Amino acid sequence: MAVSLERYSRQMLLPGWGQEGQQRLRLKTVVVVGCGALGSHIASHLVRAGVGRLILADRDFVELHNLPRQALYSEADAEAGVPKAVAAARRLRQLNAQVKIEEHVVDVNADTVEELIVGSDLVLDGADNFEVRYLVNEACVKHGIPWVYGGVLGTYGLMAPIVPGETPCLRCLLGPMPLPGAVPTCETAGVLGTVVAAIAALEATEGLKILMERRDEVLHSLIMVDVWKGDFERVQTLKGTASCPVCDEGQYALLESDLGSRAVVLCGRMAVQITPRPAQRLDLALLAERLGDAGLVRANEYLLRLDVEGVQLTVFADGRTIVKGTDDTAQARALFARYVGS
Ligand SMILES: [Zn+2]
Repeated sequence: MAVSLERYSRQMLLPGWGQEGQQRLRLKTVVVVGCGALGSHIASHLVRAGVGRLILADRDFVELHNLPRQALYSEADAEAGVPKAVAAARRLRQLNAQVKIEEHVVDVNADTVEELIVGSDLVLDGADNFEVRYLVNEACVKHGIPWVYGGVLGTYGLMAPIVPGETPCLRCLLGPMPLPGAVPTCETAGVLGTVVAAIAALEATEGLKILMERRDEVLHSLIMVDVWKGDFERVQTLKGTASCPVCDEGQYALLESDLGSRAVVLCGRMAVQITPRPAQRLDLALLAERLGDAGLVRANEYLLRLDVEGVQLTVFADGRTIVKGTDDTAQARALFARYVGS
């Protein structure tokens, strides 16, 4: 059945787009990993642009403090604690009923990532932590699926398209995965809504090029933006001389082994234990300093305790963390990513 393309008339006027480009877009499937700030903006762009099918994955639910930058949600969603994937899908269907939208309330991890992305044409990064990004990188390289990396912190953001076989992968670009606690997160360093919009727009644009099969126009660059300072920088992404364990050697450590963090419910304690693998040495004093504004923090030489969002996180020096006040492993993983990082 013919679908009206009338709504796309303005973008179809763009050079090289036309009805043909629009029809091509309609045949494509995109996965958005994470429906927070970046993910909700990215999904909105793709749905408005007229992608064929959109798969949304997110483990979290809407909260009031999301609203300054998470484009698809309302106060009512926060009040009701609606899962982000569900609230996003609902809103996106109102924006463009021609797009097939599938929502998955799921923790993206080694057990779930391949099922989610295999068969898709593109994966877009709306994740809030490096463990998921490095996992997505492995899965995309393994299955030859292009993806676009994006990240924001404070007023600063990064974006790079990753096309297996054509560009360096995330592991090539950023080196080994940062250790838990080693990098600040948006929950400890803050984030400005406008940088989210900027990076999401760049991710979606590269995504559209890939979907429309205009591969020669895809940037082989890492873009860095500081919206507050007005700094925009683009550096060419070149493959180094060193062999990459992921895209050269096909070692998918996070995907295939126990390297990813483990979450287990501690029976009868209303608590979940997260165990990063391999074990790490955390600088608890540094972490305590970083978390100072996030909630009530107490630390000694063995552990750090943070009371926040109605739960208590106990972080040990090896990275092991007990989240007390929940028996939901996805929520505990989300809290761990938010406050301890990765
Ligand atoms: Zn690589």
